[in-house]
Amino acid sequence: MGGTSIKVGLCDESGKLLHTYEGPTGTEHGSDVVLENIAQYVRKLVADSSHDWEQVAGIGAGIAGFMDIPEGFIKLSPNLGWRNVPVKKILEEKLGKTVKIDNDANVAALGEAWSGAGTGIPNVVCYTLGTGVGGGIIINGKIYQGFKGMAGELGHIKVVPDVEAIRCGCGMYGCLETVSSATGIIRMGKEAVERGEHTSLALIKDLTAKDVLDAAKSGDEVSLRIVNRAALYLGKSMAAVSVILNPQRFIIGGGVSKAGEFLFEAIRKYYHEYTQESAREGVDIVPASLGNDAGVVGAAGLNLHS
Ligand SMILES: [Zn+2]
Repeated sequence: MGGTSIKVGLCDESGKLLHTYEGPTGTEHGSDVVLENIAQYVRKLVADSSHDWEQVAGIGAGIAGFMDIPEGFIKLSPNLGWRNVPVKKILEEKLGKTVKIDNDANVAALGEAWSGAGTGIPNVVCYTLGTGVGGGIIINGKIYQGFKGMAGELGHIKVVPDVEAIRCGCGMYGCLETVSSATGIIRMGKEAVERGEHTSLALIKDLTAKDVLDAAKSGDEVSLRIVNRAALYLGKSMAAVSVILNPQRFIIGGGVSKAGEFLFEAIRKYYHEYTQESAREGVDIVPASLGNDAGVVGAAGLNLHS
């Protein structure tokens, strides 16, 4: 569920996505209308498929925000403008099925772990490199939520040394997200241009993270330095995760990860450099494979894997 559109998907018990439907969120009309939209899209999704409503085992939703996961309650969702919305209760009343909710990064991680790049591997940690840096931890095939659902906030691991740390959206300084997100990469590109550094980025209007990654691939030295810095702090954060959780696989998705092998090679290099040998032995770092479907697949998976 996003601020502008809601994507719904019908999954079978192996995590195969059978059918999808997408419609507007209707955020501006408030939570009652948004939840009614979800109920309508879900019913339409099933009606348009070759399956019967009775065959639906349960419903899951991935939502950005702070929530009480067991109670299915959204405490605060800044991008939806919601405060204290009992999503689980309302949707269960509307649809007559068990409803489970979790945050968007966790469901995307579960989707990848269940039927994407982590299939068959019980312990994986996922990073999503987008506007921010999202994360999700899967232990024994289930999302690890921690004490109050704050586990897996990998974008807010403090990895940048104080001398070069800038303030993160979370209020703290030096978070991974400030350098390794699309926003961080764009910022570093703009700063280099403003300093008058010799770079092809100076010719680009409305700089995107893809511009910086592309320029790095074509050998622009300033862009290479920026991408290396993003990879270095990612590798450093993974080193910390490895000695805490020792997952078998790291999965990296989101817009920035589309830079491909070029970026992955750099991340693996720094991961290797920073991680204690036995903590990294046999561990691999791979791209996500479900793309934008990871969220719907993982949300459906909440019914089997939580
Ligand atoms: Zn932060």
